[in-house]
Parts: sequence; structure tokens; C-alpha cells
Amino acid sequence: MPERNLELEMDELKKDLQEIKNLLKAIQKDMFKKAERFMQSRIVKVKNLDEMEKAVNDKCFALASWCGGRDCENLIKERMQATGRNMPFDGKLVTKTCACCGKPAVTPMYFARAY
Ligand SMILES: [Zn+2]
Repeated sequence: MPERNLELEMDELKKDLQEIKNLLKAIQKDMFKKAERFMQSRIVKVKNLDEMEKAVNDKCFALASWCGGRDCENLIKERMQATGRNMPFDGKLVTKTCACCGKPAVTPMYFARAY
């Protein structure tokens, strides 16, 4: 039986592990990019309720300016069964006024239908 060179085997193993790690990182990055691209493709900026309803019917996230009022949230919920999800990180308004009531908007908001 040939003598095994454990040190060499360990080195090989370490190299393999590093390669696997790099591969995993690349896969994760790729998946994240694809998920991000998919999300972006599902976001529609809307200026009014008609546009919002169309986006929601298309199973998209409607990004709209919102006055922050519960009345508007309720009206949107009643009209198209969509609810406010969360606020975009950048906080940039789509329009200066609320897509629902036309009052000055305080924040952008994603609206989507609940399934
Ligand atoms: Zn409003």
C-alpha cells in the first residue's frame, strides 16, 4: 500500500472546499440578481386609481404616492382588494399628490392584491 501524503490530501481538500464556496457565492449572487430583476419587472409606477387597478389586475405591485390617510387605504382595498405593503427605501414620490385623493402625498407605497 502506498504511503498516503495526508498533508497533500488536506491541501487538495481545502482547494476543493474553496472552489465550492466560490461556486455557491456565484450561484447566490445570480439568484439574487434574477429575483431582483423579477421584482423590478413586477413593479409599475402609477399616478391614479385607474392605473393602480390595472397594475393590480396584472398581478403587479403598484408603486403610488400616498397621503398616509386610512380613508384612501380603505377605498383602495374596497375597489381593488389591494393593500399597502411597504414603503420603498429611497422614499422618492411617484407624484406629488396622493394617487387616491389628490391631497399632498407624504410617502410612496407599494400596493398589491392579497391572495
Ligand atoms: Zn389620499
